[in-house]
Amino acid sequence: MSSKQHLGHTARKRFGQNFLHDDYIIDKIVSAINPLSGQALVEIGPGLGALTEPVAEIVDKLTVVELDRDLAKRLRSHPFMQDKLNVIEQDALKFDFSTLLVSEKADNSKLRVFGNLPYNISTPLMFHLFKFANSIQDMHFMLQLEVVKRLCAASGDKLYGRLSVMAQYYCQPTVVVMVPPTAFKPAPKVDSAVVRLTPHKTPPVDLHSIDSLQTIVTTAFNQRRKTIRNSLKNLLNEEQITKLSVNPELRAEKLTLNDFSKLANSYYELNLNEQ
Ligand code: SAM
Repeated sequence: MSSKQHLGHTARKRFGQNFLHDDYIIDKIVSAINPLSGQALVEIGPGLGALTEPVAEIVDKLTVVELDRDLAKRLRSHPFMQDKLNVIEQDALKFDFSTLLVSEKADNSKLRVFGNLPYNISTPLMFHLFKFANSIQDMHFMLQLEVVKRLCAASGDKLYGRLSVMAQYYCQPTVVVMVPPTAFKPAPKVDSAVVRLTPHKTPPVDLHSIDSLQTIVTTAFNQRRKTIRNSLKNLLNEEQITKLSVNPELRAEKLTLNDFSKLANSYYELNLNEQ
């Protein structure tokens, strides 16, 4: 049997399909998620149900977002889960997750999002979800180990970059389960890990605009070998950087989220004054 065949389905590479089949790992992931009845659980990319089935055994209702039409169809007629599942056949990258909120105010109705994500779109998908961070209690995602390391990296670490700064503005990341390639069919070439992302209740820094932070962080890391005096020169000059008590001789990888937020707020104010 081809390694792309699993439970009668041929894995589609374009949808990043690597199906979990290791019960020990599946158990560990479900325990880390700790789903409870009454919670607003949302799975991205349920596929053949490796995580969906054990979660659906615990809870009465579960929303799943699946792009593959054949897999969505299987889930809608699943022998024991069909009554519990709200199957949304859509691209998770375009889905408005706030439509799943029953009440915007109640804390206990916030979304608990999880999924073994398609690796080809995992970073844009996380950026899309960060827009809904206020509506989310937590997220558990299976990702390439390298992406998990990027999410968790601190300033000065080799993998510290745009993803670390932006993710840590929204969430507290924690590694919860390490997963070898053999846990999947077909097996990916890389190691994986499950990360828990818990949105901050109050932002860790005061920010005037998220767009300014994006601009500063992206520009600084696009030329990560240069000092920020050089990489940011079209956005802020040396004097403006020094005034914020940020050393212009540093490279982006040495700056903290707090430094980036000061630069972003100053850039925002300068732009306001110029308008
Ligand atoms: N959860 C299953 C498991 O653990 O075995 C499948 C995981 S597989 C890595 C990723 C799943 O995401 C597939 O079912 C794939 O069809 C689905 N998928 C891919 N792109 C998607 C998208 N843009 N929106 C929603 N689902 C997507």
